[in-house]
Amino acid sequence: MSNIIITGCSSGIGFATAVMLAKNKNVVFATMRHPSRYQELQDIADNKNLPIIILPLDVTDDNSIKNAISQILFYTDKIDVLVNNAGIGTLGSVEELPIEDFIGQMDTNFIGTVRCTKAVLPHMRKKKSGCIINISSVGGRLFNYFNAPYSASKAAVEAFSECLAMEVLPFGIRVAVVEPGVIDTPLQDKCKSQIKETSYPNLQRCVAFFSAARDHHVPPDVVAETILKIVNGESTRFRNPTGPDSLPFLGFRASMSDEDWIAGADIDEETWISMMKGMHLDVRKYLTRF
Ligand code: NAP
Repeated sequence: MSNIIITGCSSGIGFATAVMLAKNKNVVFATMRHPSRYQELQDIADNKNLPIIILPLDVTDDNSIKNAISQILFYTDKIDVLVNNAGIGTLGSVEELPIEDFIGQMDTNFIGTVRCTKAVLPHMRKKKSGCIINISSVGGRLFNYFNAPYSASKAAVEAFSECLAMEVLPFGIRVAVVEPGVIDTPLQDKCKSQIKETSYPNLQRCVAFFSAARDHHVPPDVVAETILKIVNGESTRFRNPTGPDSLPFLGFRASMSDEDWIAGADIDEETWISMMKGMHLDVRKYLTRF
């Protein structure tokens, strides 16, 4: 049994992970920005008698993190695992996305991970044990057009995690990275809802790619299972690509040179559609003009 903190539990992967870890006899401190707006997790915890304690935590706010950790250390004298899951995204061109999108995604996805990690490290180092699981993305290793703020923030999480893993190893603290492919959560709708008029016609390909990939309906439980395996020690890997499309996407990228990958952004539409078909993605129906 472990005491586990998870950020961003109001929906998607954080929500599914809180339930799965609690069902597997762990005590879960499920944190979210606005607990009063989300009753569902509390209802599941109550109905199924699961050890889930919901607390407010905004990963962009140092005071909020400090308060949450103090409350957790009031409940328990040991934090075993931190899952840095909270994340946001947008889709759009570097030219047209406001600078605030770059700053916001860096602040939430990367600096938020750094903030929460720094908050638990003194405790884990003194206890000489602990595990920090950072939710990155295939997008943290495979860089695609119209995904610059998100990919840059997740690439930063990857680099940060590898440096951290080496620093904390002598103190018995483990770091692992989870790299989901496209998972069926509210995140994609949130990204798409922000798309504005564009001078970049290829943005439609990016949107069609994500829509077609989402048609595979990979549930967030798939990611929760990977996290459970890391917590249980069943997976001892540092990088954990997760979901049926993660390894094929990473393999596809690794199969070509950087130059060929970039040149792929300018191929004609029919060639692109058949290339996507080769990856089991039916993108044609999603190619709406902006
Ligand atoms: P989601 O359902 O939108 O969940 C994102 C969670 O992050 C929500 O609970 C959201 O809370 C929370 N959050 C956002 N900003 C926050 C902040 N400042 N402080 C605390 N919590 C905050 O999306 P998801 O797919 O489950 O995403 C979870 C993680 O998986 C993210 O790191 C994402 O990048 C990663 N991921 C997702 C996919 C995918 O295809 N879905 C693929 C690869 C990686 P609010 O309700 O308050 O906004």
